[in-house]
Amino acid sequence: MMRRLLVIWAIVLLASTAKVQAQGLLSEKNNFTRQDTLRGSITPERVWWDLTYYHLDIKVKPDEKYISGKNTIQYKVLENNSVMQIDLQPPLKITKAVQNNKELDIRHDGNAHFITLKDPQKVNDINSIDVHYEGHPREAVRAPWDGGISWKKDENGNHFIASSCQGLGASVWWPCKDHMYDEVDSMLISVNVPSKLMDVSNGRLRSVEQYGDTKTYHWIVKNPINNYGVNINIGDYAHFSEVFDGENGNLDMDYYVLKDNLEKAKVHFKDAPKMMKAFEHWFGPYPFYKDGYKLVEVPYLGMEHQSSVTYGNKYMQGYLGKDLSGTGWGLKFDFIIIHESGHEWFANNITYIDIADMWIHESFTNYSESLFLEYYYGKEAGAEYVIGTRKGIQNDRPIIGYYHVNTEGSADMYPKGGNMLHTLRQLVEDDEKWRQILRGLNRTFYHQTVTTQQIENYMSEKTGIDLTEFFNQYLRTTKIPTLEYTIKNKELKYRWTNIIDKFDMPIQVSIDGQEEWLFPKAEWKTKILDSKNVSFEIDPDFYVETKKL
Ligand SMILES: [Zn+2]
Repeated sequence: MMRRLLVIWAIVLLASTAKVQAQGLLSEKNNFTRQDTLRGSITPERVWWDLTYYHLDIKVKPDEKYISGKNTIQYKVLENNSVMQIDLQPPLKITKAVQNNKELDIRHDGNAHFITLKDPQKVNDINSIDVHYEGHPREAVRAPWDGGISWKKDENGNHFIASSCQGLGASVWWPCKDHMYDEVDSMLISVNVPSKLMDVSNGRLRSVEQYGDTKTYHWIVKNPINNYGVNINIGDYAHFSEVFDGENGNLDMDYYVLKDNLEKAKVHFKDAPKMMKAFEHWFGPYPFYKDGYKLVEVPYLGMEHQSSVTYGNKYMQGYLGKDLSGTGWGLKFDFIIIHESGHEWFANNITYIDIADMWIHESFTNYSESLFLEYYYGKEAGAEYVIGTRKGIQNDRPIIGYYHVNTEGSADMYPKGGNMLHTLRQLVEDDEKWRQILRGLNRTFYHQTVTTQQIENYMSEKTGIDLTEFFNQYLRTTKIPTLEYTIKNKELKYRWTNIIDKFDMPIQVSIDGQEEWLFPKAEWKTKILDSKNVSFEIDPDFYVETKKL
């Protein structure tokens, strides 16, 4: 599914290239490889076909750490071409590719495989190709950040297996079009495992078939899904569920946990319906009612797998028991349940086309943590939390990464991005309008892949503020605006420093207890005060620095 993407892409390509060159980033780092470009760009061998459906049909052999099977890739022909790029990372191997019973020639170029189709590809036809593969997939080094397949055991010695592949790419464990711009409209995931284990993947369990001492679990996903969202989780699972009375009616919420953790999970997972209530309030209806919502225990920390959010926070509050904000508020919820589920709106509903724009996923989701707190504990709690997370900001690199080479920006996309949004909310000065913007984003870009420009433009339009310099400052530089000021006698002088050209964000201050707006620019401005020795405070909700001269 692509939706007007080709046109948008052409514009974005030009715009982002210009931007990157303007910042001189290319000269800072230009050691990207041909493989990075094959992975991170919409190549001629990708652009001519539009994904409609995948049927991933695999057998997992836990004892051998081995996967084999095939992916049936159905697509619509958009342009005349006969060479198709499919991605799969070694040590996995494509064994053959077949269309209409004809085995096809494949030219291998690292992780990219160029398959020459024999039959004519007529524009608008829906065709399909079977890509067979097998091997020992890359084992996750430090899931989910350095992912692959985690082959673990539970405390009873049962296999406990899970995939995770954001950034690295889904092609680390199955053959696919490994670029985020194009999502299938629906997907069937069939996973054969030893009988005493169960596979939990995305969407809904359609059927289970017994084959000797193995079982095949068929999971159907009826909504568009991004490729890193697809997952397998294999273990000795117990299941419980509830029905949530949501904005779009009844939503099935299903929980899969290791059998030993069942009773603990029934109590601890009460954060999940709490999350759903708060996030539907802020962001609009859960985006995948057809597929339901699941929380699935895994042997790593967690990931936002679409409609099957994975959970490994050890049934602790905070982030593995820690409060990332240092304010105490971070221990009021299970970080993984809240954060990873927040991604159902910002990552799975609204999805970046290029991982360079990963802030669209992480900045909004970081802010969702404080919105969760605000919903249950009040506005002050949410504000204290997000302000508290500033201690994690590195300002090492810009939040936006490098385009077309599959490279994300700084991890500041989490705390700095959240604080950027909190700052923007102050400029909006209207909480209900702010909430409607968050809901509007999810409605306008429903089930779409987007660029940062689309999100920035939407927010400028809906706030009524030209946010060009605001976003350029916070997303594309490491500079934190610094308000310099002096107070002498009855004169307040102030200006912005450490800013990009034309940055002129207003800021709220308190002078002798009276709140008011200042409109600083790069040049000094003067304000005459009513009296000498006034108190002067800058609203801490703004993520800026201040310097009294
Ligand atoms: Zn996240």
